[in-house]
Amino acid sequence: MNINGLKFCVIGGGIGGLAAALALRQRGAQVTVLEQASALTEVGAGLQISANGMVVLRALGVVGETAETGLRSAGTVLRDYRKGRVISRIAEPAAGPTYYYHRADLLDLLHKAAERAGVEIRLGARVDEVLKHPEAAEVVLSSGERLRAECAIAADGGRSTIRPTLNGTEAPEFTHQVAWRATIPWSGQSETPRASLTMGPGRHVVSYPLRDQSLMNIVAVEERSDWREEGWRHRGDPNDLRARFEEFGGPAGEILAKVEEVHLWALFLRPVAQNWQNGRLALLGDAAHPTLPFMAQGACLALEDAWVLIRAMDDQPGVTQALAAYEAKRRPRARQVVAAANANARNFHLGGPMRLAAQAALSVIGPRLGRRYDWIYGYDATA
Ligand SMILES: Cc1cc2nc3c(=O)[nH]c(=O)nc-3n(C[C@H](O)[C@H](O)[C@H](O)COP(=O)(O)OP(=O)(O)OC[C@H]3O[C@@H](n4cnc5c(N)ncnc54)[C@H](O)[C@@H]3O)c2cc1C
Repeated sequence: MNINGLKFCVIGGGIGGLAAALALRQRGAQVTVLEQASALTEVGAGLQISANGMVVLRALGVVGETAETGLRSAGTVLRDYRKGRVISRIAEPAAGPTYYYHRADLLDLLHKAAERAGVEIRLGARVDEVLKHPEAAEVVLSSGERLRAECAIAADGGRSTIRPTLNGTEAPEFTHQVAWRATIPWSGQSETPRASLTMGPGRHVVSYPLRDQSLMNIVAVEERSDWREEGWRHRGDPNDLRARFEEFGGPAGEILAKVEEVHLWALFLRPVAQNWQNGRLALLGDAAHPTLPFMAQGACLALEDAWVLIRAMDDQPGVTQALAAYEAKRRPRARQVVAAANANARNFHLGGPMRLAAQAALSVIGPRLGRRYDWIYGYDATA
């Protein structure tokens, strides 16, 4: 199908929404992004974009071979929590390197590419619902304004307002895990950029450098049941963070000692959506498949979604068929990756004899561990 001149509304200006908007615009569609926030900004957090996400960013022309502001990773070091003893080193995946991005930088790259391509981006535009008509989607904004388009894409994140239109009301499940995130100034310019995953009973800390290694990104996750706030922007107390991870020594302990500002949120899980589309409206990114951050794949999956969506538009005779083909292709993949992230939630937090046994196994197979996930990193949605 030729989508040149067709109207699309994309709800949400996050990584998934902007990538989809850009991809559709590059095929000639008239695209409007409706973003509830008054500015496209994101504070202090990093993103690892593995080869399966990078291939889409390159195909869209968002980044070139140098990956712009991305920092090429040389792999991951697995450590034990007490003294930071190295358990194993995971090399660069065979599919190609992962890059570390400051989330604000990646959003900025996508935003600029979308604007250059002619996507209309409307900020402060919150969408309340999308109505289905035989030949159109009608998007209803909180302001009362209504927009008609041939197709609406809801990329409105893990707490999507639009998902219940297709799936009814679903109660999210609390995972009894709480994540703290912080960035601290760093001076690692002379070091080889690597992520560290430090594992202890019921807790783990992931850290990796950003930009020119002048920042260190930290995500610390603990099993805990007394905090159930889901939003990303709740401020935490750095001393509370340190107290909760006081047994973490070595490099993880050193970076936690430097945290001055921290946010925390409870991790909730919603299943991969049962219904992704109704012929005029489709879910994309976290709205369709929220995932725990333990495979670092949420944004990568959203990028894959964007490419598969336009490929379906290319291949199918109409919007309805294209959305059905998109759903059929994406749902099994999303389910597999989300399940892998869930499994890591358990693997990272082992205690007692299980932990020692797992570490012994990791020290042997660790260098080859990356290959276990070749099916994730080696997936090329653009092929
Ligand atoms: C701690 C942490 C670490 C992570 N690390 C990684 C990583 O290393 N690699 C990786 O690939 N992924 C990672 N992820 C996952 C990744 O951040 C998400 O999967 C990704 O941001 C999803 O993009 P999205 O566009 O679907 O949704 P979002 O980024 O949530 O964007 C949704 C947008 O929609 C807007 N919106 C919401 N409702 C409405 C509405 N009603 N009307 C209009 N606009 C609306 C929001 O304001 C927002 O801008 C991580 C997540 C967390 C929490």
